[in-house]
Amino acid sequence: MKITIIGTGYVGLVTGTCFAQVGHRVICVDNDPAKVKLLQGGGMPIYEPGLEELVNSNVAAGRLRFSDSTREGVEQSDVIFIAVPTPPQADGSVDLSFIEGVAREIASNMTAYRIVVDKSTVPVKTGEKVTETIKRYSKGRVEFDVVSNPEFLREGFAVDDLMHPDRVVVGVSSERPVQAMREVYEPFKAPIIVTDISSAELIKHAANSFLALKISYINAISVVCEAAGANVQEVANGIGMDKRIGRQFLDASLGFGGSCFPKDLSAFIKIAEQLGYDFGLLKEVQRINSDQMARFVKKIASTLWVLKDKRIGVLGLAFKQNTDDVRMSPAIDLCQRLLKEGAVLRVHDPQAMEKARPLLPTVTYVGEMNEVAEGCDALIVATEWPEFKKLDLDRARRNMSHPIMFDGRNLFDPKEMERLGWIYKSIGR
Ligand code: NAD
Repeated sequence: MKITIIGTGYVGLVTGTCFAQVGHRVICVDNDPAKVKLLQGGGMPIYEPGLEELVNSNVAAGRLRFSDSTREGVEQSDVIFIAVPTPPQADGSVDLSFIEGVAREIASNMTAYRIVVDKSTVPVKTGEKVTETIKRYSKGRVEFDVVSNPEFLREGFAVDDLMHPDRVVVGVSSERPVQAMREVYEPFKAPIIVTDISSAELIKHAANSFLALKISYINAISVVCEAAGANVQEVANGIGMDKRIGRQFLDASLGFGGSCFPKDLSAFIKIAEQLGYDFGLLKEVQRINSDQMARFVKKIASTLWVLKDKRIGVLGLAFKQNTDDVRMSPAIDLCQRLLKEGAVLRVHDPQAMEKARPLLPTVTYVGEMNEVAEGCDALIVATEWPEFKKLDLDRARRNMSHPIMFDGRNLFDPKEMERLGWIYKSIGR
């Protein structure tokens, strides 16, 4: 199939590349000319494991190319995916101006039947608005269908998630686009759920809110575990082995972040409110999440007493492992809170230091994780990068004024850390 993806970010670039990998001919469009130029020259705007090799091989095979022209993308493809940002507004509702802008551009460039697929995460009823917009701006010249096809990839595992999806959700308002959507996804051999557009749109917000709820649930349990002297990891293992519950998303931590969960939760609460329902359950999920960060900062402050001029090493800046994405990262939030209290920070992240620089301009960036602890009063683990488990703990301990570690991701074993001479504080253990 000939496919265009409008918006070549974390979702658009990985989706376009995986579509090319299974044999489709793909144009990835972006309105950021610097990004398009970088990609055309063989550069990568984001870090995602396995992506660069896949982009290079599909470009070389002539199945994948990049353009800054929506007109070119709309003219040359049968199926047009929209993967542009849907950021939050101050009141928690979604800014749909990117989606509206792209819908207008598609409308004014369509010369024959097109399937317009929304892959961005949008509030229920957005499909109807996109349909109205395209009708209005194409002046009824050509036929088209709007489809909702939410994306469930996890950054850091995006290539694998796209190549092997648990399911593909396709929301339609008529039968006409269904066959083409089946052809797009047939090579991925995943179950395809065909439903109405509103249900498809709701599936995405309901799924992300449920995952965030699971995280806040285990974080709430971590508070009870700390008070009771129990171990949240043992509790998570014990309940997670129940197939009805499952072990995933039951890792206690300093809280969730990233470009999706916080914004999708706020959006879903707002959507429900506009539909006349007070989603108190999800408000509580948000509250538990922000309390979790506050509690972690308090733990650090009560141990170090005065934070002003304390030298603190921070391992991790990305919002989670295997990504360079720092949008709404709890690690960045934590650093900003500590800086506000006057702490002096030495930080390291395997991939996210460049993207963190504008957000944390006054910290010292350390290229090698084993040098972060140099002269520090405490060391913090803020992101669950697996390589942090290989930290030279002896060297770190020797190089610190006090061997104190605050592990916001429960990467290390409390008993082992104690045996090695650390004052070790983690979450719910
Ligand atoms: P992103 O910011 O990484 O990428 C969006 C891209 O769209 C940018 O490159 C931007 O330059 C481009 N863009 C903006 N306006 C444009 C226009 N008019 N024409 C062409 N390009 C334009 O965002 P993302 O993380 O890929 O998210 C995109 C959507 O997918 C959002 O709705 C998000 O909620 C959803 N989503 C994200 C993830 C994730 O893990 N990042 C997962 C599932 C769903």
